[in-house]
Amino acid sequence: MNLQEISVSTLSGVGPKRISALESLGIKSIYDLLFYFPFRYEDMEVKSLNDAVDQEKILLKGVVASDPVVAHFGYRKNRLNVRILVENESIMVTFFNQPWLKDKFETGNEVAVYGKWNENHRALTGIKVIGDSHSEGSIDSVYSVNKNIRQKTLVNMIKEAFDKYHQDIISVIPESIIQKYQLMHDEQMVKGMHFPQDENENEAARRSAKFREFFLFECGIQSVKARDNQENDGLVESYNQEFIDQFIDKLPFKPTNAQSRVIKEILDDMQSKHHMNRLLQGDVGSGKTIVAVTAMLASVTAGFQAAIMAPTEILAQQHFDKISSLLTPLKLKVGILTGSQTKKEHDTIAENVAQGRINVVVGTHALIQESVSFKDLGLIVIDEQHRFGVNQRKALRLKGNNPDVLAMTATPIPRTLAITTYGDMDVSRIDELPAGRKPIDTYWIRSQKIEQMYRFVEKELKTGAQAYVVTPLISESEKIDLKNAEVIFDKFNELFAPKYKIGLLHGQMPNDEKEQVMSEFSSHKLDVLVSTTVIEVGVDVPNATLMVIYDANRFGLSQLHQLRGRVGRGQKQSYCILIADPKNDIALERMKILTSTNDGFVLAEEDLKMRGSGDLLGSKQSGLPDFKVGNPIVDFNILETAQQEAEQMFKDADTIEKPENKVLKLFLSVEFEQLNNFD
Ligand code: ADP
Ligand code: MG
Repeated sequence: MNLQEISVSTLSGVGPKRISALESLGIKSIYDLLFYFPFRYEDMEVKSLNDAVDQEKILLKGVVASDPVVAHFGYRKNRLNVRILVENESIMVTFFNQPWLKDKFETGNEVAVYGKWNENHRALTGIKVIGDSHSEGSIDSVYSVNKNIRQKTLVNMIKEAFDKYHQDIISVIPESIIQKYQLMHDEQMVKGMHFPQDENENEAARRSAKFREFFLFECGIQSVKARDNQENDGLVESYNQEFIDQFIDKLPFKPTNAQSRVIKEILDDMQSKHHMNRLLQGDVGSGKTIVAVTAMLASVTAGFQAAIMAPTEILAQQHFDKISSLLTPLKLKVGILTGSQTKKEHDTIAENVAQGRINVVVGTHALIQESVSFKDLGLIVIDEQHRFGVNQRKALRLKGNNPDVLAMTATPIPRTLAITTYGDMDVSRIDELPAGRKPIDTYWIRSQKIEQMYRFVEKELKTGAQAYVVTPLISESEKIDLKNAEVIFDKFNELFAPKYKIGLLHGQMPNDEKEQVMSEFSSHKLDVLVSTTVIEVGVDVPNATLMVIYDANRFGLSQLHQLRGRVGRGQKQSYCILIADPKNDIALERMKILTSTNDGFVLAEEDLKMRGSGDLLGSKQSGLPDFKVGNPIVDFNILETAQQEAEQMFKDADTIEKPENKVLKLFLSVEFEQLNNFD
């Protein structure tokens, strides 16, 4: 019997109302119900009064000292009071609106009561009476429910479903893996998740459930990847190697070994019959742009068009300038499409793109508008890919006939993310900075010491260096942010003008003004650029060697690392000054980590740990998929093992066809659609 196909309506007393209540929890089948696990457990071991903590829940055992009294108050409200002798102390226990419980208390009988402890009054607000022979075990399962359904009702349904169908719970994990990791079979696991007899059983069940969840998720990813690799419908881009070699020879610098290696990985992939879905990861300043340009050139020499999408206009403009200067001498046509262009400009360029007269197109999300179509798109590069939503990335892919995709990111991908969110992509890593780069010196000061920063800025400016001064989003209102940036801008003018030229850049400026300011800073007409976070990603001005960040505690670690990465791009020693008055330990910890390491990978791991350790909002923002039982950060070891086993399972196309994997295969084919949606 396939429990996924049996409706909850086969349980007693489950009619339309309960069906829709269960549906509101995402439960339709008996399978869904049995695998709707508690979101937490309450320890119901009997505790001594000495261990009772104010306002915490505790299970106390004692003798009923007096008959219970039910008092009514207000409209249909009542309270039941009963005294219980616990360790020779008389404790008052109160239950609200459960008058029927009075039958459970008979003077002189032993009783165990679970409730919330009030230290001041030496009293307990009762939650439930356990009775002396409690068969439910010492652990209480707590389910997440909503207003449509009560805990108790849900528990009873799960109990009935388990009694009725437990012999049909068949393990999906292949037997050899169950043995290898000493996992529970699914039937035993389901029992241990819902009705554990003790902590050990529950612990083992949870470990098994986590493995199961991660393994199935990873199988989904691996099967998608395997299918991608088996299909031979990718574009074959037969590029001109000689042309590429000449191009690289003419660059003003020699590529690092890491750059050469990833260029080869990417070009091989583009030339193969498989569709390329590759992530290029390289820390800020590692030189991803030139890798992307080389790949785009290769695509053009193979007779295709190439496109690069950047998250901001400033960045698109910067790419356009750089790419034009590199590729126009080779007689390639480079075009730019952004949201701020006039309709006429846009239409002209779009027309040239559609006709194939433009070889390389640079743009913002304006590239994915309906009005843009390509003649023959071969390669898409997505810069700072984490800035784009999945749908935007997809939209660009749909502009061609299954073009190759190269997504670039400066945010190092912790292993956790690499094997979940990005599990279907191949990864190329630039793990080396260009020679001669000096690590950036980072200092943290409190705002009361701000004078020190001014002196430092002056010292740097004297050497002919340029500085960024960044202020964060202080509020939702851009007006207030702007004011904040303007105040700093005025202060810097007061201190350093007219000897040094100060510029201001913020999100509310029209785009041509933004470009104007940026290009003045690039060409060193400005010495200091005061800016809101619009410069966070990608901006490349090698002569800038100082980054000052106001209210640094308002940024996340990765973001601070990105900002800091705007300097340290030339041969000169660079500095980063963080101004922050951290208000809690985590914020303080962040400042310390930043001043102690320049390693983006270490920072990304720390960032994820700090955000992912339990708080939901944090892990949502971290880009991790939702898991029900396992926490990919805390349970990383289980995740990694599950990933390796899943990878093994799909390494050879026929492994999944073996008889011992039959249940798994069937399960995946049912779940496939769901698993396929993780992207
Ligand atoms: P990111 O990876 O952060 O996008 P960029 O591509 O902007 O980095 O490169 C950072 C800077 O390093 C640029 O000024 C670029 O010209 C320079 N650069 C890139 N590769 C090398 C190299 N192999 N040697 C020296 N400088 C390089
Ligand atoms: Mg870049």
